[in-house]
Amino acid sequence: MPQQTQKVMQQWPLHVLDGGYENVPFKVFTQRDLDRIAPLQKLPEAMRFEMKVVSSVLPFRVNQYVIDELIDWSNIPADPIFQLTFPQRGMLAPAHYDRIAALLRDGADKATLNAAIGEVRLALNPHPADQMEMNMPRDAAGNRLDGIQHKYRETVLFFPSQGQTCHAYCTFCFRWAQFVGDKTLRIAASEASTLHDYLKAHTEVTDLLFTGGDPMVMKTKHLKAYLEPLLEPAFDHIQTIRIGTKALTFWPHRFLGAEDAGELIELLTRMVRAGKHVAVMAHYNHWKELDTDAAREAIRSIRSTGAQIRAQGPLIAHINDDPDVWAKMWKMQVKLGIIPYYMFVERDTGARGYFEVPLARAWEIYRQAIQRVSGLARTARGPSMSASPGKVEVQGVTEINGEKVFVLRFIQGRNPDWVQRPFFAKYDDTAGWLDHLEPALGEAEFFYEAEYRALRDDKLAG
Ligand SMILES: *Cc1c(COP(=O)(O)O)cnc(C)c1O
Repeated sequence: MPQQTQKVMQQWPLHVLDGGYENVPFKVFTQRDLDRIAPLQKLPEAMRFEMKVVSSVLPFRVNQYVIDELIDWSNIPADPIFQLTFPQRGMLAPAHYDRIAALLRDGADKATLNAAIGEVRLALNPHPADQMEMNMPRDAAGNRLDGIQHKYRETVLFFPSQGQTCHAYCTFCFRWAQFVGDKTLRIAASEASTLHDYLKAHTEVTDLLFTGGDPMVMKTKHLKAYLEPLLEPAFDHIQTIRIGTKALTFWPHRFLGAEDAGELIELLTRMVRAGKHVAVMAHYNHWKELDTDAAREAIRSIRSTGAQIRAQGPLIAHINDDPDVWAKMWKMQVKLGIIPYYMFVERDTGARGYFEVPLARAWEIYRQAIQRVSGLARTARGPSMSASPGKVEVQGVTEINGEKVFVLRFIQGRNPDWVQRPFFAKYDDTAGWLDHLEPALGEAEFFYEAEYRALRDDKLAG
């Protein structure tokens, strides 16, 4: 550690945690444990069977904290956190559901069942938006660097191998395929040196974003091995370290009484005091996630390190497709010192049919929610689609020369020059994603498409 940093740390006492969070055990439940989740036993048998069918195909993982503190069991199935974590029949298309249900009911043999499950999964677009091929850089010798994605000039995404699970799973997760054991979809790096070598060679990068899974699943000692070397002068160009996580929702005890929580808080403090901007990119979908004592204490604890917390999450039918929910969530975030950052459009994968909110409706929800909050909560941008060419925001709906159009813009683009140029798509009240949209005003294609095709052909050939 640089001497200056050491001196600063001695001068400032670390945040002292409130008591009462020691030794809370992390107890997790997966598909095999459905019959052991106490509150489920009060639900109708038919509903429990539906959960078994759906969780044969889509990943399921929940923990005792979510069950006890986040879900209102008197409001099933409407409760938003129940929808966020527990499988629902509508998450599979009727034909898929019926096929797997019949096999389970008839006690089909394992091989038959697994073959059917595999086919259904493949039909659910497990590879949205060229995730794998187009963003993975290569080293000087031409080897693909697994676990690193570099799509936008300033920001590198890193997928540490020890962080490739979560404290619970979201039913709408766009990385669902890696959690059902599809190893070909798994993006992970096991070597800190891969990351560090890449960053040393890329001084145009200012932001490093740890993602997963959930990097906060990692033991602090692993996180430290990735983070601490970044304090060396060779990484002075890395100004910001972002850590994407849902732990503030699913397991706030990670920052409170977990065995290496104190060490984690110290690590974040050290990074901040050494001059890095540390941003915890918290995934939130509903204000209920902010509404427990443990969640609030964990937020205080992180903020006491000097790290920022920024909030982002998708707009999801059955969970938060309501402007009141977003307005209340953003207001609570600002009150707790969290900065609202992105409202995303749910990607085209997995149980998409169940969760989809059309773009036109998404924009209405965003607009109405933004109107209800103060300027400090209007830092949330969206609704934004993380599509292969870039992050595209629906800015609004208007009429030009009598034609009803969506006004769109890139928030991020594979070519930075695409950013902030308004462009127009034909209005379509059912469109749910960029590739459902058509250019408006007589254009044959969107302004970026020819260049995007060339970039893509180039990457896929290389
Ligand atoms: C969103 C995103 C980023 C970060 O973009 P910001 O606009 O800086 O938040 C980086 N890489 C990928 C692949 C992304 O999707």
